[in-house]
Amino acid sequence: MKLQDKVAVITGASMGIGEAIAKLFLQEGAKVVLCARDLPRTKAAEERIGGGANTLSVACDVSQRSQVDALVKTTLDKFGRIDIFVNNAGFGLNDAVADMDMAALRRMFDTNLFGVIDCMQAVIPVMRKQGGGDIVNISSVSGYISTPYMSGYAATKHAMNAIGKAARMELQRQNINVLTVCPGYIATDFVKNMEKGKHSERLGSSVKYSVGPEVVAVATLQGMLKRKREVVTPRFYSVFIRMYQALPSVVESQIRKALRPTAQVLAEAAKKQ
Ligand code: NAP
Repeated sequence: MKLQDKVAVITGASMGIGEAIAKLFLQEGAKVVLCARDLPRTKAAEERIGGGANTLSVACDVSQRSQVDALVKTTLDKFGRIDIFVNNAGFGLNDAVADMDMAALRRMFDTNLFGVIDCMQAVIPVMRKQGGGDIVNISSVSGYISTPYMSGYAATKHAMNAIGKAARMELQRQNINVLTVCPGYIATDFVKNMEKGKHSERLGSSVKYSVGPEVVAVATLQGMLKRKREVVTPRFYSVFIRMYQALPSVVESQIRKALRPTAQVLAEAAKKQ
């Protein structure tokens, strides 16, 4: 058991990547707090992962600081400490820069970026008092490569990478490690749940390379135990990132060729699952 008696809080744990991380951490002996906005859906996930005395579901919208503070307090009241905090809650906005709805864009930043910073600010004092801890930020390959009609989402993830890596250097002396995880295309309901605007197109080819959320969970655990700064998962995406950094116009032309209507990409993904 790699996480025996550790207490882990996971945001956005009612499905997808968050649920897979909750399941693995519980199997590894951790006490796990699952949070998302929809409590019945979170409790259903808690049941699916085999929860009981070592789990707790909490309703929390990470874009609301008062709810984040309540999440931390509820966890401390129940389990007495927080060793691991996984910032996973997030969603996408699928539209063109020229047309995207500014209110939707601000909402996405409030969850994907400011919510993460609020969670970090709420949990860092707890970890400092305990003498250390691990903060895991679930970012994306979009934190390196910005694709058409996902610009705002990529902006939240680029910013998340910047915050996480600076925070890591600030907190290392206090024995708090900040790990940034950058998944590629993962087979969850993320695309279905995304806010879609007038111009909803996606990379069709990425469906072919999709893997299950449990792959991200294993990579997250391994990266966290090694106290790494970053994990790109699946690994082949790091080659893609390096290619983009070396030859951006070549990669961009491939990206443009791979664009398909989002509805078509969703249909292809449903066939694959
Ligand atoms: P998902 O299946 O849509 O799950 C998103 C989770 O976040 C749900 O539990 C949702 O529950 C929760 N959530 C959304 N807004 C929230 C808020 N304001 N406060 C608290 N919880 C909130 O998506 P996923 O694929 O698992 O994505 C999880 C994370 O991985 C996201 O940060 C995403 O950007 C990142 N990621 C995903 C992929 C991919 O291909 N799937 C790739 C790279 C990175 P409620 O709606 O009930 O709140």
